[in-house]
Amino acid sequence: MKIIKEEKGYITSIILLILLIPVLLLMIIIIEEYSEDTNTTIQNIESEKIKTKTEDFENEIITISKETLHNVTLDVITRKKALTNSRTYLKKIIQEKINEKQKKYGAENIIINTEVKQIESSNDPFKIEINYIITSTANNSNIKIRKENKKLIDITDTKYPVYDPLPTLKIGATIKNNQINFQDKLAEYIESENNTAYTNAKTSIIIKKCPYSDYIQHGNNNQTITNCLHNHYYHNSHDGLCLLCRLENKTSCNHYGIETFILPTLEYDKAPASIDHVLLNDKNNQYDGNKIKINNKTILYLDNGHKTKYGL
Ligand SMILES: [Zn+2]
Ligand SMILES: [Zn+2]
Repeated sequence: MKIIKEEKGYITSIILLILLIPVLLLMIIIIEEYSEDTNTTIQNIESEKIKTKTEDFENEIITISKETLHNVTLDVITRKKALTNSRTYLKKIIQEKINEKQKKYGAENIIINTEVKQIESSNDPFKIEINYIITSTANNSNIKIRKENKKLIDITDTKYPVYDPLPTLKIGATIKNNQINFQDKLAEYIESENNTAYTNAKTSIIIKKCPYSDYIQHGNNNQTITNCLHNHYYHNSHDGLCLLCRLENKTSCNHYGIETFILPTLEYDKAPASIDHVLLNDKNNQYDGNKIKINNKTILYLDNGHKTKYGL
C-alpha cells in the first residue's frame, strides 16, 4: 500500500509539473512582451524628444537669420560699404551662428547638424528664403532625423528691424535717429531739371511694409496716403530692388523688389519722380513726374505708372 501511495504522490508531482509548464511559458511571454513594450515606449519618448528639439532648433534658425539681417544691414549702413556677394556673406554668418547654437544643444545630449545650402530672394520681397539640411539625433540613440527644408524669413519683424542700405550706399546719405537726411546730396545726385525739389528731403531707414496692401486704395482718402508717406512705408515693386541686391548697391535686379516714396521739399509743376528706385537709379534712368498735391504741406511727383498703381 505504501508503494502505491508513493507512486501516487510521484504521479501527482509529474502532473503538477506538466501543468506548470504552460503557466511558466505564459509568464515568460508576458514578461518579454512587457519589456518590449517598455522598450518601444522608451524609443517613442526618445524620438519624440529629438523631433521636438529639432523643431525648436528650426525656429532658432529663423531667429538667427532675422538677427543676422538686422546686424548685417546695420553694419553696411554704418560702414557705408556694399557687400560683393550678399547671399554668400549672409550664408556664412548665419552658418557660423548656427554652429555656435548647435553646441548648446549638444550639451543637452541632442546632436544637431545643419548645413545652410542657400540664401536667396523670394517671391515675396518682404521675405528672404533660406534653404538648409538638418540632421539630428541623441547620444547613444539609433534614432536619426534628416530634413531638407526651406523657410521664409520676414524682414519686417519690429524686433529685428532691417535697414535699407540703398540711400547710404548710393549717395552716402547721413543717418540720424533712424532717419535719413539727404541734405543736398540727393539733389546733387539727380541730374535732371528741378533736382532741388529734393534738397533736405528725409526718409526712414527701416524697411516697414505698407499695411494698405491694395495699393490703389492709397488714393481713396487723404488719410491713407498721408499715413503711408508719414511712416515711409515700402511696397512691392517689379522695378524696385530686392533687399539682397540693395546690399550690393545695384541699380536694377531681376528679383521681385520693393519701393518707397521720397518726399520732395520744394514745389514745381514737374520734377523727378518721388520713388526711391527712380531717384537712386543710374543718372540716365531717372525720369520726371507731375505734381500731385496731397495737402498744404505735402506734394509728390509721379509718372502715370505710379499714379495708377497707387490710385492717386
Ligand atoms: Zn503705402
Ligand atoms: Zn535682387
